[in-house]
Amino acid sequence: MNQNGIIKAVCPLDCPDQCGLLVHKKNGKIIKVAGDPDHPVTQGHICNKVRHMADRINDENRLKYPLKRVGPKGSGQFERITWGEALETITAHWKNLIQTDGPESILPYSFYGNMGNLSAEGMDRRFFHRLGASQLDRSICSSAGSAGYKYTMGGSFGVDPEDTIHSKLFIFWGINAVSTNMHQVALAQKARKQNGAKIIVIDVHRNQTGRLADWFIPILPGTDSALALGIMHILFAEDLVAEDFLQKYTVGQEELREHVLQYDPSTVSGITGVPVEDIYKLARMYGKSSPSYIRIGNGPQHHDNGGMFVRTVACLPALTGQWLVKGGGAIKGNGGYLAHNEIRLQRPDLLKNKNTRIINMNLLGDALLTLDPPVKSLFVYGSNPAVVAPNGNKVREGLAREDLFTVVHDLFLTDTAKYADIILPATSSFENTDFYTSYWHHYIQLQQPVIEPFGEAKSNVEVFRLLAKGMGFDEQAFAETEAEMIGAALDHPRNPYLEGIDFEGLAEHHYLKANVKPLFPGKLPTPSGKIELYSEKMKANGHPPLPTYIPLKEDGDFDYSFVPAPNHNFLNSTFSNNQKHTTLEKEPRLHMNVRDAVAEGIEDGTKVRVWNHRGECVLKVSVGENVLPGVLATQGLWANQKGTQQLVNSLTPDRIADMGGGATFFSGRVKVEKI
Ligand code: SF4
Repeated sequence: MNQNGIIKAVCPLDCPDQCGLLVHKKNGKIIKVAGDPDHPVTQGHICNKVRHMADRINDENRLKYPLKRVGPKGSGQFERITWGEALETITAHWKNLIQTDGPESILPYSFYGNMGNLSAEGMDRRFFHRLGASQLDRSICSSAGSAGYKYTMGGSFGVDPEDTIHSKLFIFWGINAVSTNMHQVALAQKARKQNGAKIIVIDVHRNQTGRLADWFIPILPGTDSALALGIMHILFAEDLVAEDFLQKYTVGQEELREHVLQYDPSTVSGITGVPVEDIYKLARMYGKSSPSYIRIGNGPQHHDNGGMFVRTVACLPALTGQWLVKGGGAIKGNGGYLAHNEIRLQRPDLLKNKNTRIINMNLLGDALLTLDPPVKSLFVYGSNPAVVAPNGNKVREGLAREDLFTVVHDLFLTDTAKYADIILPATSSFENTDFYTSYWHHYIQLQQPVIEPFGEAKSNVEVFRLLAKGMGFDEQAFAETEAEMIGAALDHPRNPYLEGIDFEGLAEHHYLKANVKPLFPGKLPTPSGKIELYSEKMKANGHPPLPTYIPLKEDGDFDYSFVPAPNHNFLNSTFSNNQKHTTLEKEPRLHMNVRDAVAEGIEDGTKVRVWNHRGECVLKVSVGENVLPGVLATQGLWANQKGTQQLVNSLTPDRIADMGGGATFFSGRVKVEKI
């Protein structure tokens, strides 16, 4: 490995842009991370988070060697041990547990802290399948919306984002894209400059993206499907629908036409808080602009009715026939195009008991506190549930259980790691071999080690290889190299878009574009092969078969909707422990409408206690017009700053959304009081 140079790399974060990077290296250390100007989509531009990534990679606070706990859980008192002792302690404990309580007493808990497919869902899955551990339903992020979109479109298939440069109208719906999909914003701004495209942002919070819009439409939380239905009402009523497209490529258009009569603008305005004239203006702009493009965000799907929202808004481009226009249509997620061979990568055949229980990760608190038979051991990697999981007080109470044997594999002593019995130091993505598949653009990228592992850190693949050895698992699956695993994952005859893409090609070119064909006139993977405006499958699964507004569930007698959204400089809790990022972000703020502030006697900058039946936080208020009356919004998952005072997930519900086992982070209600 060269000690100096500029090396191509890929951003590992859970972000749709999946930027191409150039890592600058001197004397064996990363000194700078920049964008790769040759990358066809991201073109050399990267966000603030990753521009300062070198500081994080070289941070002296990174974990350098394995640790064992020597103080009370949560106290952060650990002492150094060897890898041998760490692995022996873990495997001895698990062998015992398997004897006494069975393998399902062990629960892996992970998410996409590193989006590399081997790191996030490779050797770990093989290992836990072979172990027979409880399975985790990884539904904390986009699963409700993906399930909803699938009912309409058959899978995660949208337009090629590169085509949106031709769009005349961009609707960013419930996405702070400036912070979470910046290259889509760049495309929109370019289109605005080149073809006079208009940018509309619909959101509960006038955030960075709302501020750059030509038109920002504030909306009450959890009412987005009603607005989409109101748009449909006007499109049908004013003959702004593409009848040819509806006849050829959809099912249920007549039922939908009848059904949306009830969503007249006045009714919809009463639900959403959007004025009647704005609903007309929005529907007419959408109906008359072509190409028009909707970027469907994750925000509105973090609700009790989140799946139905995405299912509903996904019908809009069908009504206007936009799927046939280059640059028209929508993206919720494009992961379907780059789907790899999960069976070969994850080896579910190694799981002998096909009835092994599945635990929804949004219910971690319950899983640790009340599940019977109980979870006796937890292995956490690529995630920080003490901060990011909903109903956080419950989660932390569970993690504090003395009889819970917890192992954490991470780069830092996170809030979750403080509860661990054993901590294993993790490599960063720049120390690993892995492959990355964007869920927005159509490129697959390869990462190969740029630097040596930090201290004694090991990759996720290596840790599970060693654990397999310690458990006495001798299947060939645990001996495969990273290159072999990538080769197997890319060998996926059922996905024609991956044809011709293999490890060798990626090693030569760093990134390759999937061979994606236009969605139409092809058949969609829905039961009818068409866009399902009416879905028999939804009916069979207990949902209304037509797009429908379903109000949020009761969440106690509290005055305000509470929306804890992402901020600009963190990615969930990643970077919340890095000084540069916290300095840039300054402090978490609670956005409150001026009318509510006057009624509460709260001034800008006042510290308030935000509370409900689940917990409390202490936040400083920003008074203004950034949210509607009755709504409170904050940004960022702050950790390691002021104890638990800023852990906003202390307030969020752990109810499960209508579809996909999804999370309902934004469906909570709270009260506020001055401190
Ligand atoms: S976080 Fe997103 S925008 Fe930032 S560098 Fe990574 S992929 Fe690019």
